[in-house]
Amino acid sequence: MGQALAKREMDKGMKQYHEQRFAEAVDEWSSALKKMTKARNKFEALGNICLALCDLGKYRDALTHSGLQIEVANDTDDPVLKSEAFLMYAICNEKLSEFTKAISYCRYCLQTEKVADRTQSYAHLCLGNAYVGLSEFPKAWGSYTKALTLARTKNDKFLELMTSARVGHMFSLLTDYDTGLAYCCKAWDVVSGLPEGDPHVRYRRLLAVYIATPYRRTGRYNEAMDYCEDAMKLAMLYGDRPVQARCLLTFADIHRKRNDLERASPRYESAYSIMSETGDRLGQVEALSGMAKTATSQRDLAKATELNVKALDIAQKIGNKLEMLRCHARLRTLYAATGDETLAHRHFSVLRQLLDEMELLCGVCDEVVGERPEKLDALRCGHFIHGRCSDYLARSTLGRAGKTRPCPACRRKSSENPALYT
Ligand SMILES: [Zn+2]
Ligand SMILES: [Zn+2]
Repeated sequence: MGQALAKREMDKGMKQYHEQRFAEAVDEWSSALKKMTKARNKFEALGNICLALCDLGKYRDALTHSGLQIEVANDTDDPVLKSEAFLMYAICNEKLSEFTKAISYCRYCLQTEKVADRTQSYAHLCLGNAYVGLSEFPKAWGSYTKALTLARTKNDKFLELMTSARVGHMFSLLTDYDTGLAYCCKAWDVVSGLPEGDPHVRYRRLLAVYIATPYRRTGRYNEAMDYCEDAMKLAMLYGDRPVQARCLLTFADIHRKRNDLERASPRYESAYSIMSETGDRLGQVEALSGMAKTATSQRDLAKATELNVKALDIAQKIGNKLEMLRCHARLRTLYAATGDETLAHRHFSVLRQLLDEMELLCGVCDEVVGERPEKLDALRCGHFIHGRCSDYLARSTLGRAGKTRPCPACRRKSSENPALYT
């Protein structure tokens, strides 16, 4: 009797989930879970609850449920279930900016004796996201390439859409906005082609935020605003806290760039508060950095320093080297402006060291990749070089047709000679 009711509740929850009524779906599934006796049913309910909690931005609750799902999977001793549970645990950790833990659990997932194809593909996507979280871009590119290849082989449109969006975001972080936008637009085409009522349509609003980034960074504020305003409306309608916070951050950045600091500040504050609530610590660093830049524009250097130090502290805790680097760069400028050369120099040396660690030096010209907007090329090994240097590399190998062109950075590091993407 109880089992039949549980089954009905599971179905009802799924219907609500598809209608993006995430909180109601969580309640329905939680009620079903209490009545369940079979491990396999409990496993499914817990997995569904985790997904809906992530949609709501309740990452800590999702992580707790994910831990319970691992326990259930261990009881069944079914390797397929174990690998799925590890992946979910990795995803929740990635959302909470626990990037190293996310990587470990993706590895546990992939190393399980039996892993479903689908789980494997999504583990590569999650790995890519976690590596971007640590600013390990070559490794991230390697994982994303695997996810994209699997998506195309299996004709998994959703995986392709999510991976393209994240690859686009990565290129935007590396200030190659054209490539960033191209990947995001590819994802946009996929999501636009989905039939109305497809549950994946909800990713359109997250994608809008990713598309807005290259527009915003290249001064095309109206386009960025349009995408985010639509996304914000939908995010408010469906209680999507993560997208709300991201939109607020974009609005704040645009207002700041337009020198409307009065409107920028409260939006940074709101974004920061939502991100603290959800546990998106990387987002918190970005919001604090925006506040610090606002304080600098207001010539409040003491407040700017304090905010940058706070942002740097979180960036160090989560291990995001790119944000650490940006904080050090801003602190260096601030200390130099106040005449503290010793501290300015200290921040500069850490900055150089971080650049080395991120492997963001172009193997051809030895200059920094991602310092100013320009086209980049990703090599098969994961290293990035400037688009302009890629031409030079191609010319310098003329007459060696058919031979693989070595990546200069790898050649220096080892005897391996991975080929360029051609
Ligand atoms: Zn170069
Ligand atoms: Zn290389």
